[in-house]
Amino acid sequence: MRAGEITGGCLCGDVRFHASGAPRRVTHCHCDMCRRAVGAVVATFATFESSRVEWRGPLSRYDSSDRAWRGFCPRCGSSLCFGYKPRPDRIYVTLGTFDDPNAHPASFHDYLDQKLSWLTIDAHLPTAASAKRSAEKRNPLSR
Ligand SMILES: [Zn+2]
Ligand SMILES: [Zn+2]
Repeated sequence: MRAGEITGGCLCGDVRFHASGAPRRVTHCHCDMCRRAVGAVVATFATFESSRVEWRGPLSRYDSSDRAWRGFCPRCGSSLCFGYKPRPDRIYVTLGTFDDPNAHPASFHDYLDQKLSWLTIDAHLPTAASAKRSAEKRNPLSR
């Protein structure tokens, strides 16, 4: 593994990825669809430019809505990524499939209104939407 390269893969090892450079952001998504898709109480994704992530193996797709798809391993079922069809230049890779997830702590929450009531995780972090709003306040031309 080269410096600055991130690697990861599914439980059985059939699907592997490597990404060059750090993720743009790491976000805990609490929405119901992500929770079901990954089968965990929160789904944590690392955002990359799609062109910087290279996949090896039989990554399969499930269209979870008109606007989104989920990538998974057809052999072991690991949830590997999320794609938002209006933004094909971005890919959201599940942090839990990283070989070294400790190196990439989350910096945002998304859909906190759907967070499980008993779950406490990174309570100090802002929501992605509030971070976007305050960035727009600083620079109203950035939207
Ligand atoms: Zn697998
Ligand atoms: Zn979500």
